[in-house]
Amino acid sequence: MTLAVYLADRAGRLDAALRLTPREARLEARVLAAAALGVEPVWLIAHDTDLLAPQQLAALDALFERRLAGEPVAYILGEREFYGRKFRVSPATLIPRPETEHLVDAALSHGPDAARVLDIGTGSGCIAITLKLERPDCSLCAVDVSTDALAMAQANGERLGAGIEWLESDLFAALAGRRFALIVSNPPYIAAGDGHLGQGDVRFEPKGALASGADGLDAIRAIVKRAPAHLEPGGWLLLEHGYDQGETVPALLAGAGYAEVFMARDLAGQPRVSGGRRT
Ligand code: GLN
Repeated sequence: MTLAVYLADRAGRLDAALRLTPREARLEARVLAAAALGVEPVWLIAHDTDLLAPQQLAALDALFERRLAGEPVAYILGEREFYGRKFRVSPATLIPRPETEHLVDAALSHGPDAARVLDIGTGSGCIAITLKLERPDCSLCAVDVSTDALAMAQANGERLGAGIEWLESDLFAALAGRRFALIVSNPPYIAAGDGHLGQGDVRFEPKGALASGADGLDAIRAIVKRAPAHLEPGGWLLLEHGYDQGETVPALLAGAGYAEVFMARDLAGQPRVSGGRRT
């Protein structure tokens, strides 16, 4: 069988099994094939009439079987791009999403020079590392309750050359007496009973990074309540949240006495980031 025939067949199967669009399926098939064969995707174009050797076929089948069983591409490849850089990911960490780049942008526009910045629930470390690399004058502290996630974040930081203080901590538990000019978080914010948790890639992601109580707001409420004790006067708290939390989260911030409360939408036009300032 030639590479082209194999790719067309597997794209069709991905399309059917995972309800991808034909275009998404073709793209995924190429990304997976390149990883299986250890080549750049562009190599596939020049070799699409090559006959596949048995070892190549075995390597391809191994990855496609995993994907056809629903495993996210990012976990199969072990990496995902975020803000133009590649981050290693594993099932211990949420897969970085493009929407979260809005939280990074909000942090870049709200953080003062040389700010002390805290990232709560850092996961792969993508937010903290990006902020440190974009703003080397700032000092970054990043916490996560998961030892495995923190190890992945630390490895990403070392590989990308971002000096960050990594701490194992359940929210602010390990931060007694510490204050920051900016606190950012992409906390879990999905309602525990939300059907979305049983679909697609999220089935393979850590539940603790996704779901947070009956209305999805447990972690956000705790952060909003406890952040002022860890913010410098005038310091900002910036939170990612769900598309349906664009009124609730600003209301929580205003209710807790934060000033200059705002909400920003993502590229899809959905409410995605809210923030407020300690008075
Ligand atoms: N945006 C993610 C999703 O809808 C959730 C990320 C999170 O809970 N922090 O799958």
